[in-house]
Amino acid sequence: MARTSRPLPAKLTTLGQLLCSDSEGEAGPSARPLARKRPAAVPEVESDSEDDEPLARRVAKKAKPGPVAAPPAAGKRPVSPPDRGGLFGPLPPMPGDSEDDDSEDDDHPEADEAEQALEAWEAKRAAAAAPTYTGSEWNVEREGDDLAGQQWVDRAHAFRARAQRIYDNEKARLLTGLDGRVTEQHRASLAPFTLIFDKGTRRRGVCKYKYKTIGLSARLIDGGFPADQVAKVIRHELSHACNPKQHHNHVWSLFDISIGGDGRRCCVSEEAKAIIGHKVEIYCPVGGAKASTGHYFAKKQVAPSRKWLGRKICPLCKRNGTVSYFQFRRV
Ligand SMILES: [Zn+2]
Ligand SMILES: [Zn+2]
Repeated sequence: MARTSRPLPAKLTTLGQLLCSDSEGEAGPSARPLARKRPAAVPEVESDSEDDEPLARRVAKKAKPGPVAAPPAAGKRPVSPPDRGGLFGPLPPMPGDSEDDDSEDDDHPEADEAEQALEAWEAKRAAAAAPTYTGSEWNVEREGDDLAGQQWVDRAHAFRARAQRIYDNEKARLLTGLDGRVTEQHRASLAPFTLIFDKGTRRRGVCKYKYKTIGLSARLIDGGFPADQVAKVIRHELSHACNPKQHHNHVWSLFDISIGGDGRRCCVSEEAKAIIGHKVEIYCPVGGAKASTGHYFAKKQVAPSRKWLGRKICPLCKRNGTVSYFQFRRV
C-alpha cells in the first residue's frame, strides 16, 4: 500500500510511511499530504524506535494526543461519578458541556438517584429534628416594639436571658442526647464551654477554644435577633466547640447538620443586617454620601485605614477621566 512512497527523503520515511499507510491507504506518493496528516497517526509510531525522531516532533507528540479520543455518544452525558449529585444536589452543568442542552428533557438516571439521595437525607435531617423556639415560653415581652431608654435596656436583658436559655437547652441536648451523632469525645470537648456576649458586629457568634467561650454579638441579641436564628448561631458555635480544629470543613459541616444546623459558614440574614446596621459610610466626594449617584458608596462597620483610602479611587470618576479618593463619615 503506502510502501510505494519510496521517493521520500530518507529522514522522513520511518514516520512518513506509517502515517500514510494508516490514514490514506494507497494515497499518492507525494510528501505533501503526509506532512499534513502527521498528527493523525502519531500514536502509531510508538512501536518504532523513538530515538530517530527529532526532539521537536517527540515533544509535539507528547503535547498533542491527536484526534483519537472519540467524542461521547450524542445525546448522552458521560457517566458521572456517583457522588456528583451528593449531599447538596446535582451540580450545575459544566461550561463546556454542550450535550447538556440537548438532553435537558431526557430523564437522567443519575439525577433521579441524586434526588432520591437528597430526599433520604432530608428525611434523616427531619428525623433529627432540632427543637424550635417558637412557643410562648420563648417570647420576650414587646419583642417587636420600638422602645427606648430603660425599657429598651430591660428588654435587652430579657433577650440575653432568652439566648442563655436557648444555649443551655442546646448544650444539654448535645451532652445528654443525640446518641450516635455526638460521641464521648465531642462531649468532653464541649463540656467546659460557657456563653458570653461580646462586642462583635461583623459576625454573629464566635467560638474561642482558648477561653472555652462561645460569644454572641451583644448588639445583635440586644437588638432582638429572632430566637430560631439565635439557636442556629448557637448550634453553629457548639459544633465548633465539639469539633476543635475542624474549622468549617466537611466534618464540622456534617456535624452541624446532624444536630439541626444548616452546615453553612455564614448566611446573609436580613434581620442581622437590620439590627446591626452600619457605623461608617465610605463615599466619593464628587457623588456625596449617596448611593443613587453611581459614585462609590459603601456602608461598613469599621472605618477604613489611611492606606486603603490612599489606594482606592472612585471607579466612576476614573471612567470620567478624573481621580477622586474616597472619604468616610461616621453615622
Ligand atoms: Zn464558624
Ligand atoms: Zn466619583
